Amino acid sequence: MSESATYDATACVSPAPARSGRRGTRPSRGSRTRPGSQAPRLAAELGPSDPGAPRSRLAVAIDDLAAVDIDALSDAELRQHLADLRQPLARLTALRASWSASLESRIIAGAPPQQRGAAQREGRLAFADEHQLTPSEAKRAVEAGKAARQHPETGQAFLAGDLSPEHVRVIDEVLGAVDAEHRELLEPQLLDLARGRHAVRFGRDARALLASFSPEDAAEAGKRKLARRRVRATDTADGGFAFSGLLYGTAAETARVALDAFTRPDVAGEHRTPEQRAADGFEQLCAAALRTDAAPSQHGARPQVLVVMDAEQLAHHEHRDGTGTARFARSGQPVTSTELGPLLDDCQLIRIVLDAERTPIEVSEAVRTVPVGLWRALLVRDGGCTWPGCDAPAAWCDVAHGHTPFARDGRLAPDNAALLCRRHHRRFDNGPWRIEVRGGQVSYQRTGRGVRNRSP
Ligand SMILES: [Zn+2]
Repeated sequence: MSESATYDATACVSPAPARSGRRGTRPSRGSRTRPGSQAPRLAAELGPSDPGAPRSRLAVAIDDLAAVDIDALSDAELRQHLADLRQPLARLTALRASWSASLESRIIAGAPPQQRGAAQREGRLAFADEHQLTPSEAKRAVEAGKAARQHPETGQAFLAGDLSPEHVRVIDEVLGAVDAEHRELLEPQLLDLARGRHAVRFGRDARALLASFSPEDAAEAGKRKLARRRVRATDTADGGFAFSGLLYGTAAETARVALDAFTRPDVAGEHRTPEQRAADGFEQLCAAALRTDAAPSQHGARPQVLVVMDAEQLAHHEHRDGTGTARFARSGQPVTSTELGPLLDDCQLIRIVLDAERTPIEVSEAVRTVPVGLWRALLVRDGGCTWPGCDAPAAWCDVAHGHTPFARDGRLAPDNAALLCRRHHRRFDNGPWRIEVRGGQVSYQRTGRGVRNRSP
């Protein structure tokens, strides 16, 4: 893991895209029913069918709303105004989804067979650009529009502003798992279930309904969804490690439980966003995974975060309070020894001697910067992270050097070291803190300086 890794995982549930291949039983019902049943409603909302007129009437209505002096409204009135926006916004979102799906069908039908995939992609990108949507938002909108056409009752509820595109995709996923007869029974139940539930909760309840209705179909649907599992990871130009992904079933639950287990609440004085808490939890999870014997070995060695630092830079680090520079071996990313603090305090050092052509000519045995005896002593004394309020167990902890850097004869001894979890080790290293060990009790005192200070 890079020190500056970024975190953007979505390891959970996502509604299904439309499965157009499974729609053979009612191929034309949606497209035939929708225009007739929706036309009066749309006309009432937007005006006559003159292409110029709907937009102008809509624009006038929005201008009227924008002209409301909200400073003159009471809180209750403002709340009511806000609530009144919900349905028109939902209806317009549904309309956009429905129209974009129709346009896409026409684009595909008008393209030569071998170019239909490319025409669909181009059409979606143009739609995304025009509406300032991300490609995945555009995809979800078009898919919801298509699904709404496949299931007329759902389509009507969608256009009435009762469902979000995500709700429609969930309904499509569940209805796509059963045969036509069951579909007619299930659809009204799903529409009932969707009321007053946000999409994630609705998705969970809708799949539970499917499982009770037809366990076999639910199992098949779960299996099909597994094919969409993915994790994407990439290095970013600013030195980060970005990743996103999607897991289902047991894999999703395993990831939820593991991330939860390593994500800790803030202690006093700590103010992290939920995303930062999850990022810290994820780093700790990865660090713990690399520490176990279960990590697969490569060339007989367990995978570890390797840092390459030349002797001169290491001396800088040891003698001048962390001014050395280094690079991570796996990614080649440069890193300062200040950022490396927690790793350099508690690591194995391997000396590699290079010749003039930078060919390794001698490799020393690994030397631990923290002797086993000291680790055991701290394990007994501290038991886990010593930061006030933190309950991270010892297995997550590094040994943090105390107030005397070892290069200044700061011999690593129990009175000059303590166990800290990764995030508190970093906080300690980068803050104005000093360790005090008295009678087996570790405490942290502010030095009054605003920067890293580990000098006596
Ligand atoms: Zn801690």
